[in-house]
Amino acid sequence: MRKALVLFGPPGSGKGTQSKFLVARFGIPQISTGDMLRDHIARRDQIGKSVQARMESGALVRDELVNAMVRERLSQPDCVNGCILDGYPRTRQQAEVLLDLLKELGLSELVIHLVVDYNIIIARISGRRVCPKCGTLYNSSSRPPRVPGVCDRDGENLVIREDDRESVVRERLEAYERQTRPLIDFFRQQGSRLLEVDASHGAPEAIFGQILADLNRLESEVTLGS
Ligand code: ADP
Repeated sequence: MRKALVLFGPPGSGKGTQSKFLVARFGIPQISTGDMLRDHIARRDQIGKSVQARMESGALVRDELVNAMVRERLSQPDCVNGCILDGYPRTRQQAEVLLDLLKELGLSELVIHLVVDYNIIIARISGRRVCPKCGTLYNSSSRPPRVPGVCDRDGENLVIREDDRESVVRERLEAYERQTRPLIDFFRQQGSRLLEVDASHGAPEAIFGQILADLNRLESEVTLGS
């Protein structure tokens, strides 16, 4: 499949988790702008320093910066057969840049919209913990570690991601409503293929099953129609 799968949904909708499943299933890389930005912060480099304050407040980082990061990442050889975009695009300007870039690269986009109820998001994010060493995500209700507060893989103490604090979560949700959610209409207008998946309930594996079923259905429709 020479496709960019665009995982779309509010913070806490499970984009990261579903991206990992998609990576395992299709063997194409995940491009998470959030992870890339956190990497820069961890390395304390120039980019990291310039984005840290905005990220910690829950606001979006400048379009030019994320666009340049994604352009550079998408031109790597491991993306020739496609990729999974997680957390990008988030603004109209990013979406426009992305569609041009995909055209240049000969990839077509398929948007997977994870639809989740607002209250469920708040509950999910407030229970979220991450391993500072290996990055594994846990959740006190849906995916607890075997020993509370400790990573199953490496025994490291779990932490709350800086931008998962409640006031920051509210800001992130607002940024989503204001800047990102309207992109669904933009994608529709552009004629992008779009899957809507109910991601409010059920285990992550079951939601992934739904995504795969929808993808298969779409593929066969496309084949039949062409
Ligand atoms: P979530 O989807 O749970 O909000 P992410 O890891 O995708 O988490 O993003 C965390 C933060 O990184 C965002 O709040 C924002 O500050 C920054 N960020 C990530 N991706 C983008 C993007 N495409 N454009 C602007 N800022 C971004």
